[in-house]
Amino acid sequence: MTGPGARAPDATRRDLLRALAAAGGAACAARLAGSATAIAEDVARPGEGVVAVEEGGLAPRPARWYRKLPEDWVQCGLCPHGCRISEGERGTCGVRENRKGSLFTLVHSRPCSVAVDPVEKKPLFHVLPGVPALSLATAGCNFACKACQNWEIAQARPEQVKSATLSPRGVAELARRHAAPLVACTYTEPTVWSEYVHDVAVAARSLGVRTVVVSNGSIQEEPLRDLAPLLAAYKVDLKGFREAFYRSHCEGELKPVLDTLRRLRRHGLWTEVVVLVIPTLNDSVEEIRDLSRFVRDELGPEVPVHFTRFHPAYRLTNLPSTPVATLERAHDVARGEGLRFVYLGNVPGHRAESTWCPGCGGLLVRRLGMALLENRLKKGACPDCGRAIPGVWS
Ligand code: SF4
Repeated sequence: MTGPGARAPDATRRDLLRALAAAGGAACAARLAGSATAIAEDVARPGEGVVAVEEGGLAPRPARWYRKLPEDWVQCGLCPHGCRISEGERGTCGVRENRKGSLFTLVHSRPCSVAVDPVEKKPLFHVLPGVPALSLATAGCNFACKACQNWEIAQARPEQVKSATLSPRGVAELARRHAAPLVACTYTEPTVWSEYVHDVAVAARSLGVRTVVVSNGSIQEEPLRDLAPLLAAYKVDLKGFREAFYRSHCEGELKPVLDTLRRLRRHGLWTEVVVLVIPTLNDSVEEIRDLSRFVRDELGPEVPVHFTRFHPAYRLTNLPSTPVATLERAHDVARGEGLRFVYLGNVPGHRAESTWCPGCGGLLVRRLGMALLENRLKKGACPDCGRAIPGVWS
């Protein structure tokens, strides 16, 4: 590994304790129905926007982004699947249902996971370092990734998970109560619950809280155009850079994701890219190079790219964890192609968790795991050479 990331970490015992504390909070956060109910109950006070706290049952609401077809069919326009749905049936994601010729979302205001995470867990490294993000998810996803870490909720239908009822206003108030300047729509695929994302973002903004989305990027142009002005940042999981991999391991397509990334740039919405590097499947030098060139040429060399370490999960338990050397090779390839902010994830203590100044090479933001240890940025710039660092810093 070359560049500033090559220097050995210098974590103190206190650093490690802080990292463990952050990781512990995140671990609680990710799991699932119990935490959702517990936190929802926390806000179930009169007059604070929470409709009710209950488990089970569906609460359909009219969907947006679809068109009616003859004979009571509908076509969903939310994601590139463009599901054509007959009366009484649901789309691929399992959370949008045709009722008498109209499309309904079954998960608006029905989160199955609600928790407070550090923003570093998303991961968004150039957005308000160290702040807590009120993080929520409903059931549902439009992909079926074999390496999914949240498959228990992402691949579930709404009636298969415990959910609370939490209005958009309730989400915003909950964020305020937990001193979280961000709401993160995350864990599953926010695209398939875009109506809730939209309304949460509007409610959050009215209380001075910003909203970020953690997505696979498989969303159509119109809903993205409607959501983008309401959001502070968008993190896209780029699963790889080969159509064959998207089809065989995600049941999705690469091209629409690349289109989304191009559109995010046009919208001027702060974007970070995460690549889960899986041994033998998407880790070749050629693929990493192609991906890096796409980011450099079409999104810009200052867009952060995170290469994260795979661990066996869900339906991919036959492969080993990604060797750190493979991640470091990806890092070097991306840096060699001119990307300026390349990070490694799931490798606690690695130098490439931190942000280094492309101007003078100095340390800017020091991290350990999900913990922020030090932020030396001054008004979004390097305190040593003054080089501006792109991101959402205030
Ligand atoms: S959001 Fe769901 S119903 Fe709509 S097109 Fe995508 S998979 Fe189909």
